[in-house]
Amino acid sequence: MSAPRPKVVIVGAGFAGLAAAKALHRAPVQVTVVDQHDYHTFTPFLYQVATALLEADAVAFPVRGEVRRLGNVAFRLATVTGVDLDAKAVDTDQGRLPYAYLVLAAGAVNAYFGHSEIAEHSLGLNDLPEALQLRNAILDRFEAAVWSADPAERARLLSFAVVGGGATGTEFAGALAELVTGTLARDFPGLDRSEVSITLAEASPHPLSVFPRPLPVAAERALQRKGVQIRSGVMVTEVDKTGLRLKDGTRVPAATVIWAAGVRASHLADSLGFRLGSHKRIAVTPALQVDGHPEVFVVGDFAEIPQPDAGEPLPMLAQVAIQSGRQAGRNIGALLRGDIPQPFRYKDLGTMATVGRGFAVADIGPVRFSGQPGFLAWLVVHIARIAGMRTRALTLANWVSGYLFRNRPVRLIVGPRGADQGQLQDQA
Ligand SMILES: Cc1cc2nc3c(=O)[nH]c(=O)nc-3n(C[C@H](O)[C@H](O)[C@H](O)COP(=O)(O)OP(=O)(O)OC[C@H]3O[C@@H](n4cnc5c(N)ncnc54)[C@H](O)[C@@H]3O)c2cc1C
Repeated sequence: MSAPRPKVVIVGAGFAGLAAAKALHRAPVQVTVVDQHDYHTFTPFLYQVATALLEADAVAFPVRGEVRRLGNVAFRLATVTGVDLDAKAVDTDQGRLPYAYLVLAAGAVNAYFGHSEIAEHSLGLNDLPEALQLRNAILDRFEAAVWSADPAERARLLSFAVVGGGATGTEFAGALAELVTGTLARDFPGLDRSEVSITLAEASPHPLSVFPRPLPVAAERALQRKGVQIRSGVMVTEVDKTGLRLKDGTRVPAATVIWAAGVRASHLADSLGFRLGSHKRIAVTPALQVDGHPEVFVVGDFAEIPQPDAGEPLPMLAQVAIQSGRQAGRNIGALLRGDIPQPFRYKDLGTMATVGRGFAVADIGPVRFSGQPGFLAWLVVHIARIAGMRTRALTLANWVSGYLFRNRPVRLIVGPRGADQGQLQDQA
Protein backbone atom coordinates (compact mmCIF):
# COMPACT_ATOMS: atom_id res chain seq x y z
CA MET A 1 0.00 0.00 0.00
CA SER A 2 1.40 3.43 -0.93
CA ALA A 3 2.00 6.03 1.81
CA PRO A 4 -0.74 8.65 2.24
CA ARG A 5 -0.03 11.86 0.38
CA PRO A 6 0.85 14.94 2.47
CA LYS A 7 -2.18 17.13 3.07
CA VAL A 8 -2.24 20.72 1.85
CA VAL A 9 -5.00 23.01 3.11
CA ILE A 10 -5.69 26.20 1.19
CA VAL A 11 -7.79 28.81 3.01
CA GLY A 12 -9.68 30.92 0.45
CA ALA A 13 -10.93 30.15 -3.04
CA GLY A 14 -10.16 33.59 -4.41
CA PHE A 15 -7.59 34.42 -7.07
CA ALA A 16 -4.64 33.38 -4.91
CA GLY A 17 -6.12 30.21 -3.40
CA LEU A 18 -7.29 28.80 -6.72
CA ALA A 19 -3.95 29.64 -8.37
CA ALA A 20 -2.16 27.73 -5.58
CA ALA A 21 -4.50 24.75 -6.03
CA LYS A 22 -3.91 24.70 -9.78
CA ALA A 23 -0.14 24.88 -9.29
CA LEU A 24 -0.35 21.79 -7.03
CA HIS A 25 -2.59 19.64 -9.15
CA ARG A 26 0.24 17.44 -10.43
CA ALA A 27 2.10 17.37 -7.12
CA PRO A 28 1.99 14.22 -4.92
CA VAL A 29 -0.27 15.89 -2.34
CA GLN A 30 -3.93 15.85 -1.32
CA VAL A 31 -5.25 19.40 -1.45
CA THR A 32 -8.33 20.77 0.35
CA VAL A 33 -9.56 24.25 -0.53
CA VAL A 34 -11.79 25.72 2.17
CA ASP A 35 -13.90 28.83 1.73
CA GLN A 36 -16.83 30.46 3.51
CA HIS A 37 -18.61 30.70 0.14
CA ASP A 38 -19.11 27.99 -2.44
CA TYR A 39 -18.24 30.42 -5.22
CA HIS A 40 -15.21 32.29 -6.53
CA THR A 41 -15.79 35.98 -7.28
CA PHE A 42 -14.36 37.89 -10.23
CA THR A 43 -14.11 41.14 -8.25
CA PRO A 44 -13.19 43.51 -11.12
CA PHE A 45 -16.83 43.30 -12.29
CA LEU A 46 -18.53 43.74 -8.92
CA TYR A 47 -19.31 47.38 -9.67
CA GLN A 48 -21.21 46.19 -12.75
CA VAL A 49 -23.40 43.99 -10.52
CA ALA A 50 -23.98 46.94 -8.18
CA THR A 51 -25.02 49.14 -11.11
CA ALA A 52 -27.40 46.59 -12.66
CA LEU A 53 -25.34 45.71 -15.75
CA LEU A 54 -24.37 42.13 -14.84
CA GLU A 55 -26.13 39.31 -13.02
CA ALA A 56 -24.46 37.79 -9.96
CA ASP A 57 -23.70 34.58 -11.83
CA ALA A 58 -21.72 36.50 -14.44
CA VAL A 59 -19.11 37.35 -11.80
CA ALA A 60 -19.24 34.31 -9.51
CA PHE A 61 -18.42 30.69 -10.37
CA PRO A 62 -18.96 27.53 -8.31
CA VAL A 63 -15.66 26.53 -6.69
CA ARG A 64 -16.52 22.86 -7.11
CA GLY A 65 -16.70 23.41 -10.87
CA GLU A 66 -13.21 24.92 -10.77
CA VAL A 67 -11.59 22.20 -8.63
CA ARG A 68 -13.26 19.05 -9.98
CA ARG A 69 -10.93 19.07 -12.99
CA LEU A 70 -7.91 19.01 -10.66
CA GLY A 71 -7.86 15.35 -9.60
CA ASN A 72 -6.14 15.82 -6.22
CA VAL A 73 -8.12 18.87 -5.04
CA ALA A 74 -11.25 18.76 -2.84
CA PHE A 75 -13.45 21.61 -1.64
CA ARG A 76 -14.97 22.20 1.80
CA LEU A 77 -17.50 24.91 2.56
CA ALA A 78 -16.66 26.33 5.99
CA THR A 79 -15.55 29.49 7.77
CA VAL A 80 -12.02 29.21 9.08
CA THR A 81 -11.84 30.41 12.67
CA GLY A 82 -8.20 29.78 13.54
CA VAL A 83 -5.06 27.76 12.98
CA ASP A 84 -3.39 25.49 15.55
CA LEU A 85 0.22 25.85 14.46
CA ASP A 86 1.53 23.24 16.92
CA ALA A 87 -1.00 20.59 15.96
CA LYS A 88 -0.84 21.68 12.28
CA ALA A 89 -4.61 21.90 11.93
CA VAL A 90 -7.05 24.46 10.59
CA ASP A 91 -10.10 25.11 12.77
CA THR A 92 -13.38 25.81 11.02
CA ASP A 93 -16.98 26.21 12.11
CA GLN A 94 -17.53 22.71 10.73
CA GLY A 95 -14.52 20.90 12.17
CA ARG A 96 -10.73 20.50 11.96
CA LEU A 97 -8.59 20.02 8.87
CA PRO A 98 -5.06 18.70 9.52
CA TYR A 99 -2.30 19.82 7.18
CA ALA A 100 1.34 19.22 6.35
CA TYR A 101 1.44 22.49 4.38
CA LEU A 102 -0.89 25.45 4.73
CA VAL A 103 -1.65 28.24 2.24
CA LEU A 104 -3.49 31.21 3.75
CA ALA A 105 -5.28 33.17 1.01
CA ALA A 106 -8.23 34.71 2.87
CA GLY A 107 -8.18 38.01 0.96
CA ALA A 108 -9.40 41.36 2.26
CA VAL A 109 -12.41 43.15 3.72
CA ASN A 110 -13.42 46.81 3.97
CA ALA A 111 -11.24 48.85 6.34
CA TYR A 112 -12.95 51.45 8.52
CA PHE A 113 -9.83 52.46 10.46
CA GLY A 114 -11.49 51.88 13.82
CA HIS A 115 -14.57 53.99 12.98
CA SER A 116 -17.50 51.63 13.44
CA GLU A 117 -19.91 54.46 12.61
CA ILE A 118 -18.61 54.42 9.03
CA ALA A 119 -19.55 50.77 8.68
CA GLU A 120 -22.94 51.57 10.17
CA HIS A 121 -23.71 54.45 7.81
CA SER A 122 -22.20 53.25 4.55
CA LEU A 123 -22.40 50.40 2.09
CA GLY A 124 -19.35 48.55 0.79
CA LEU A 125 -18.45 46.98 -2.53
CA ASN A 126 -15.97 44.31 -1.54
CA ASP A 127 -17.86 41.12 -2.27
CA LEU A 128 -20.92 39.80 -4.06
CA PRO A 129 -23.43 40.17 -1.20
CA GLU A 130 -22.31 43.79 -0.81
CA ALA A 131 -22.66 44.45 -4.54
CA LEU A 132 -26.22 43.06 -4.50
CA GLN A 133 -27.08 45.04 -1.39
CA LEU A 134 -25.80 48.19 -3.07
CA ARG A 135 -27.86 47.52 -6.20
CA ASN A 136 -30.95 47.03 -4.03
CA ALA A 137 -30.22 50.25 -2.15
CA ILE A 138 -29.79 52.37 -5.30
CA LEU A 139 -32.99 51.09 -6.89
CA ASP A 140 -34.83 51.40 -3.59
CA ARG A 141 -33.88 55.08 -3.32
CA PHE A 142 -35.44 55.77 -6.70
CA GLU A 143 -38.60 53.86 -5.80
CA ALA A 144 -38.85 55.84 -2.53
CA ALA A 145 -38.30 59.17 -4.33
CA VAL A 146 -41.31 58.52 -6.59
CA TRP A 147 -43.53 58.55 -3.51
CA SER A 148 -42.40 61.97 -2.36
CA ALA A 149 -44.09 65.19 -3.50
CA ASP A 150 -41.37 67.30 -1.85
CA PRO A 151 -38.49 68.20 -4.22
CA ALA A 152 -36.06 68.66 -1.30
CA GLU A 153 -36.89 65.20 0.03
CA ARG A 154 -36.48 63.69 -3.44
CA ALA A 155 -33.09 65.38 -3.79
CA ARG A 156 -32.09 64.00 -0.39
CA LEU A 157 -33.15 60.48 -1.30
CA LEU A 158 -31.30 60.68 -4.61
CA SER A 159 -27.99 61.95 -3.19
CA PHE A 160 -25.11 59.47 -3.41
CA ALA A 161 -21.56 59.96 -2.12
CA VAL A 162 -18.72 57.62 -2.98
CA VAL A 163 -15.76 57.81 -0.60
CA GLY A 164 -12.47 56.78 -2.18
CA GLY A 165 -11.33 57.53 -5.71
CA GLY A 166 -9.26 54.40 -6.24
CA ALA A 167 -10.24 51.98 -9.00
CA THR A 168 -13.30 50.65 -7.13
CA GLY A 169 -14.76 54.06 -6.26
CA THR A 170 -14.01 55.60 -9.65
CA GLU A 171 -15.39 52.71 -11.69
CA PHE A 172 -18.49 52.56 -9.53
CA ALA A 173 -19.12 56.33 -9.68
CA GLY A 174 -18.84 56.37 -13.49
CA ALA A 175 -21.16 53.38 -13.84
CA LEU A 176 -23.67 54.83 -11.34
CA ALA A 177 -23.82 58.08 -13.33
CA GLU A 178 -24.63 56.06 -16.46
CA LEU A 179 -27.26 54.00 -14.68
CA VAL A 180 -28.92 57.20 -13.49
CA THR A 181 -28.78 59.16 -16.74
CA GLY A 182 -29.58 56.20 -18.97
CA THR A 183 -31.91 53.47 -17.85
CA LEU A 184 -33.22 54.99 -14.62
CA ALA A 185 -34.02 58.29 -16.33
CA ARG A 186 -36.22 56.28 -18.73
CA ASP A 187 -37.68 54.06 -15.98
CA PHE A 188 -38.59 57.02 -13.75
CA PRO A 189 -39.92 59.66 -16.14
CA GLY A 190 -41.48 61.61 -13.24
CA LEU A 191 -38.11 62.26 -11.60
CA ASP A 192 -35.90 65.13 -12.63
CA ARG A 193 -32.25 64.24 -13.36
CA SER A 194 -31.19 67.47 -11.66
CA GLU A 195 -32.51 66.05 -8.37
CA VAL A 196 -29.89 63.28 -8.48
CA SER A 197 -26.41 64.04 -7.17
CA ILE A 198 -23.34 61.82 -7.22
CA THR A 199 -20.22 63.00 -5.38
CA LEU A 200 -16.85 61.29 -5.40
CA ALA A 201 -14.68 62.24 -2.40
CA GLU A 202 -10.97 61.52 -2.68
CA ALA A 203 -8.13 62.67 -0.42
CA SER A 204 -5.54 62.80 -3.25
CA PRO A 205 -5.59 65.66 -5.74
CA HIS A 206 -7.32 63.46 -8.35
CA PRO A 207 -9.12 60.12 -8.55
CA LEU A 208 -7.02 57.13 -9.70
CA SER A 209 -3.94 58.79 -8.21
CA VAL A 210 -1.90 55.56 -8.38
CA PHE A 211 -1.94 55.85 -12.17
CA PRO A 212 0.80 57.97 -13.76
CA ARG A 213 0.03 61.43 -15.05
CA PRO A 214 -1.89 62.50 -17.10
CA LEU A 215 -4.28 59.56 -16.60
CA PRO A 216 -5.78 60.74 -13.24
CA VAL A 217 -6.66 64.13 -14.74
CA ALA A 218 -8.21 62.45 -17.80
CA ALA A 219 -10.26 60.17 -15.53
CA GLU A 220 -11.44 63.12 -13.44
CA ARG A 221 -12.63 64.99 -16.53
CA ALA A 222 -14.43 61.89 -17.79
CA LEU A 223 -16.27 61.61 -14.46
CA GLN A 224 -17.21 65.28 -14.52
CA ARG A 225 -18.58 64.93 -18.06
CA LYS A 226 -20.88 62.24 -16.69
CA GLY A 227 -22.13 64.61 -14.01
CA VAL A 228 -20.11 63.27 -11.06
CA GLN A 229 -19.03 66.04 -8.67
CA ILE A 230 -15.45 65.58 -7.51
CA ARG A 231 -14.35 66.64 -4.02
CA SER A 232 -10.64 65.86 -4.19
CA GLY A 233 -7.61 66.87 -2.16
CA VAL A 234 -9.48 66.79 1.13
CA MET A 235 -10.03 63.95 3.61
CA VAL A 236 -13.39 62.69 4.73
CA THR A 237 -13.43 62.98 8.52
CA GLU A 238 -16.95 61.85 9.36
CA VAL A 239 -19.69 59.69 7.92
CA ASP A 240 -23.17 59.77 9.43
CA LYS A 241 -26.69 59.10 8.33
CA THR A 242 -26.95 62.46 6.57
CA GLY A 243 -23.75 62.20 4.56
CA LEU A 244 -20.08 63.19 4.87
CA ARG A 245 -18.05 65.83 6.61
CA LEU A 246 -14.76 66.84 5.00
CA LYS A 247 -11.62 68.01 6.78
CA ASP A 248 -12.17 71.59 5.57
CA GLY A 249 -15.49 71.59 7.42
CA THR A 250 -17.79 71.31 4.42
CA ARG A 251 -20.63 68.82 4.41
CA VAL A 252 -21.64 66.60 1.51
CA PRO A 253 -25.26 65.57 2.02
CA ALA A 254 -25.87 61.98 0.97
CA ALA A 255 -28.66 59.53 1.73
CA THR A 256 -26.45 56.72 0.43
CA VAL A 257 -22.74 56.59 1.20
CA ILE A 258 -20.57 54.05 -0.61
CA TRP A 259 -17.34 53.31 1.24
CA ALA A 260 -14.50 52.48 -1.16
CA ALA A 261 -11.71 54.15 0.79
CA GLY A 262 -9.70 51.20 1.94
CA VAL A 263 -9.32 47.52 2.55
CA ARG A 264 -7.43 45.41 5.06
CA ALA A 265 -6.61 41.71 5.35
CA SER A 266 -9.59 39.54 6.33
CA HIS A 267 -10.23 39.42 10.08
CA LEU A 268 -8.79 35.92 10.37
CA ALA A 269 -5.34 37.58 10.22
CA ASP A 270 -5.90 39.18 13.63
CA SER A 271 -6.22 35.87 15.47
CA LEU A 272 -3.27 33.90 14.08
CA GLY A 273 -0.49 35.50 16.11
CA PHE A 274 1.66 36.35 13.08
CA ARG A 275 3.39 39.68 12.57
CA LEU A 276 1.05 42.05 10.75
CA GLY A 277 2.18 44.77 8.35
CA SER A 278 0.33 47.51 6.49
CA HIS A 279 -3.41 46.94 5.98
CA LYS A 280 -3.11 44.29 8.73
CA ARG A 281 -1.64 41.89 6.18
CA ILE A 282 0.53 39.00 7.39
CA ALA A 283 4.22 39.72 6.85
CA VAL A 284 5.92 37.02 4.77
CA THR A 285 9.43 36.19 3.62
CA PRO A 286 10.37 36.67 -0.05
CA ALA A 287 9.46 32.98 -0.58
CA LEU A 288 5.97 33.75 0.87
CA GLN A 289 6.49 31.80 4.11
CA VAL A 290 5.84 32.92 7.66
CA ASP A 291 8.92 33.40 9.85
CA GLY A 292 9.44 30.30 12.00
CA HIS A 293 6.82 28.29 10.09
CA PRO A 294 8.23 27.25 6.72
CA GLU A 295 5.21 24.99 6.18
CA VAL A 296 2.86 28.02 6.23
CA PHE A 297 2.54 30.18 3.08
CA VAL A 298 0.53 33.40 2.91
CA VAL A 299 -0.49 34.88 -0.45
CA GLY A 300 -2.66 37.46 -2.21
CA ASP A 301 -4.34 40.30 -0.33
CA PHE A 302 -3.85 38.43 2.94
CA ALA A 303 -0.05 38.79 2.70
CA GLU A 304 2.28 41.73 2.92
CA ILE A 305 4.73 40.67 0.23
CA PRO A 306 8.09 42.47 0.17
CA GLN A 307 9.61 43.66 -3.09
CA PRO A 308 13.20 42.70 -3.94
CA ASP A 309 14.26 46.37 -3.91
CA ALA A 310 12.82 46.78 -0.37
CA GLY A 311 10.38 49.38 -1.69
CA GLU A 312 6.69 49.42 -0.84
CA PRO A 313 5.17 45.95 -0.37
CA LEU A 314 3.25 44.69 -3.39
CA PRO A 315 -0.22 46.18 -3.89
CA MET A 316 -3.46 44.30 -3.29
CA LEU A 317 -4.24 43.35 -6.88
CA ALA A 318 -5.60 40.29 -8.66
CA GLN A 319 -2.37 39.67 -10.58
CA VAL A 320 -0.30 39.79 -7.39
CA ALA A 321 -2.73 37.28 -5.89
CA ILE A 322 -2.66 34.92 -8.87
CA GLN A 323 1.10 35.00 -9.27
CA SER A 324 1.83 34.68 -5.53
CA GLY A 325 -0.66 31.79 -5.19
CA ARG A 326 1.04 30.02 -8.07
CA GLN A 327 4.47 30.58 -6.49
CA ALA A 328 3.30 29.19 -3.13
CA GLY A 329 2.12 26.05 -4.94
CA ARG A 330 5.46 25.73 -6.67
CA ASN A 331 7.33 26.28 -3.42
CA ILE A 332 5.39 23.50 -1.69
CA GLY A 333 6.42 21.30 -4.63
CA ALA A 334 10.03 22.38 -4.00
CA LEU A 335 9.82 21.48 -0.29
CA LEU A 336 8.38 18.06 -1.17
CA ARG A 337 11.38 17.41 -3.44
CA GLY A 338 13.80 18.63 -0.76
CA ASP A 339 14.58 21.82 -2.74
CA ILE A 340 14.75 25.39 -1.46
CA PRO A 341 11.61 27.51 -1.99
CA GLN A 342 12.23 30.32 -4.43
CA PRO A 343 11.59 34.02 -3.79
CA PHE A 344 8.48 35.41 -5.45
CA ARG A 345 9.12 37.73 -8.39
CA TYR A 346 6.08 39.72 -9.42
CA LYS A 347 5.60 40.40 -13.11
CA ASP A 348 3.61 43.61 -13.52
CA LEU A 349 1.19 43.13 -16.42
CA GLY A 350 -0.20 46.66 -16.11
CA THR A 351 -3.33 48.20 -14.59
CA MET A 352 -6.55 49.54 -16.03
CA ALA A 353 -9.74 51.21 -14.82
CA THR A 354 -12.94 52.23 -16.60
CA VAL A 355 -14.89 55.42 -16.19
CA GLY A 356 -18.19 54.23 -17.58
CA ARG A 357 -18.96 53.28 -21.14
CA GLY A 358 -16.31 54.03 -23.73
CA PHE A 359 -13.65 55.42 -21.39
CA ALA A 360 -10.82 53.71 -19.53
CA VAL A 361 -7.28 54.46 -18.48
CA ALA A 362 -4.58 51.87 -19.04
CA ASP A 363 -0.98 51.78 -17.84
CA ILE A 364 0.76 48.84 -19.46
CA GLY A 365 4.56 48.91 -19.35
CA PRO A 366 5.72 51.92 -21.35
CA VAL A 367 2.25 52.40 -22.87
CA ARG A 368 -0.32 54.72 -21.30
CA PHE A 369 -3.62 55.54 -22.84
CA SER A 370 -7.06 56.81 -21.95
CA GLY A 371 -10.46 57.25 -23.57
CA GLN A 372 -11.78 54.84 -26.17
CA PRO A 373 -8.46 53.07 -26.90
CA GLY A 374 -8.16 52.40 -23.17
CA PHE A 375 -11.72 51.08 -23.10
CA LEU A 376 -11.09 48.73 -26.04
CA ALA A 377 -7.95 47.41 -24.32
CA TRP A 378 -9.97 46.94 -21.10
CA LEU A 379 -12.70 45.03 -22.97
CA VAL A 380 -10.24 42.66 -24.65
CA VAL A 381 -8.19 41.97 -21.52
CA HIS A 382 -11.21 41.42 -19.28
CA ILE A 383 -13.23 39.24 -21.59
CA ALA A 384 -10.18 37.01 -21.89
CA ARG A 385 -9.91 36.77 -18.09
CA ILE A 386 -13.47 35.67 -17.40
CA ALA A 387 -13.55 31.95 -16.74
CA GLY A 388 -16.01 29.74 -18.62
CA MET A 389 -17.78 30.00 -21.97
CA ARG A 390 -21.20 30.44 -20.40
CA THR A 391 -20.12 33.32 -18.19
CA ARG A 392 -18.27 34.94 -21.06
CA ALA A 393 -21.38 34.74 -23.27
CA LEU A 394 -23.61 36.14 -20.47
CA THR A 395 -21.23 39.01 -19.85
CA LEU A 396 -20.82 39.84 -23.52
CA ALA A 397 -24.60 39.88 -24.05
CA ASN A 398 -25.06 42.31 -21.16
CA TRP A 399 -22.16 44.49 -22.27
CA VAL A 400 -23.67 44.79 -25.77
CA SER A 401 -26.98 45.72 -24.17
CA GLY A 402 -25.33 48.16 -21.77
CA TYR A 403 -22.60 49.73 -23.85
CA LEU A 404 -24.41 49.90 -27.23
CA PHE A 405 -28.01 50.44 -26.12
CA ARG A 406 -27.41 52.08 -22.72
CA ASN A 407 -29.58 49.44 -21.12
CA ARG A 408 -28.83 48.08 -17.65
CA PRO A 409 -30.88 44.92 -17.68
CA VAL A 410 -30.60 43.72 -14.07
CA ARG A 411 -32.69 46.45 -12.39
CA LEU A 412 -34.10 44.12 -9.78
CA ILE A 413 -34.52 44.58 -6.05
CA VAL A 414 -33.94 41.01 -4.87
CA GLY A 415 -33.72 39.94 -1.24
CA PRO A 416 -33.79 42.47 1.59
CA ARG A 417 -34.76 45.93 0.33
CA GLY A 418 -32.10 48.61 0.54
CA ALA A 419 -34.26 50.55 2.98
CA ASP A 420 -34.19 47.61 5.37
CA GLN A 421 -30.40 47.61 5.52
CA GLY A 422 -27.96 49.21 7.97
CA GLN A 423 -27.55 52.88 7.15
CA LEU A 424 -30.85 53.10 5.31
CA GLN A 425 -32.97 51.90 8.17
CA ASP A 426 -34.04 55.10 9.77
CA GLN A 427 -34.36 57.16 6.64
CA ALA A 428 -36.87 55.35 4.48
C1 LIG B 1 -14.74 45.86 -6.21
C2 LIG B 1 -13.32 45.41 -6.45
C3 LIG B 1 -12.75 45.60 -7.69
C4 LIG B 1 -11.45 45.19 -7.93
N1 LIG B 1 -10.92 45.39 -9.18
C5 LIG B 1 -9.68 44.96 -9.43
C6 LIG B 1 -9.13 45.11 -10.73
O1 LIG B 1 -9.78 45.63 -11.65
N2 LIG B 1 -7.86 44.64 -10.94
C7 LIG B 1 -7.13 44.08 -9.93
O2 LIG B 1 -6.00 43.67 -10.17
N3 LIG B 1 -7.62 43.93 -8.70
C8 LIG B 1 -8.87 44.35 -8.42
N4 LIG B 1 -9.38 44.20 -7.17
C9 LIG B 1 -8.53 43.60 -6.13
C10 LIG B 1 -8.60 42.08 -6.24
O3 LIG B 1 -9.94 41.67 -6.19
C11 LIG B 1 -7.84 41.43 -5.10
O4 LIG B 1 -6.51 41.87 -5.12
C12 LIG B 1 -7.91 39.93 -5.22
O5 LIG B 1 -9.24 39.48 -5.15
C13 LIG B 1 -7.10 39.25 -4.13
O6 LIG B 1 -7.21 37.88 -4.28
P1 LIG B 1 -7.15 36.93 -3.01
O7 LIG B 1 -7.24 35.54 -3.52
O8 LIG B 1 -6.03 37.32 -2.16
O9 LIG B 1 -8.46 37.30 -2.21
P2 LIG B 1 -9.98 37.10 -2.62
O10 LIG B 1 -10.12 37.04 -4.09
O11 LIG B 1 -10.70 38.17 -1.89
O12 LIG B 1 -10.36 35.70 -2.01
C14 LIG B 1 -10.34 35.46 -0.63
C15 LIG B 1 -11.25 34.29 -0.33
O13 LIG B 1 -11.09 33.93 1.02
C16 LIG B 1 -12.34 33.62 1.56
N5 LIG B 1 -12.28 33.82 3.01
C17 LIG B 1 -11.99 34.94 3.70
N6 LIG B 1 -12.00 34.71 5.02
C18 LIG B 1 -12.32 33.41 5.19
C19 LIG B 1 -12.51 32.58 6.32
N7 LIG B 1 -12.33 33.04 7.57
N8 LIG B 1 -12.88 31.30 6.11
C20 LIG B 1 -13.05 30.81 4.86
N9 LIG B 1 -12.88 31.54 3.75
C21 LIG B 1 -12.51 32.83 3.91
C22 LIG B 1 -13.29 34.58 0.87
O14 LIG B 1 -14.62 34.10 0.90
C23 LIG B 1 -12.72 34.63 -0.53
O15 LIG B 1 -13.32 33.67 -1.37
C24 LIG B 1 -10.69 44.59 -6.90
C25 LIG B 1 -11.27 44.39 -5.65
C26 LIG B 1 -12.57 44.79 -5.43
C27 LIG B 1 -13.19 44.57 -4.07
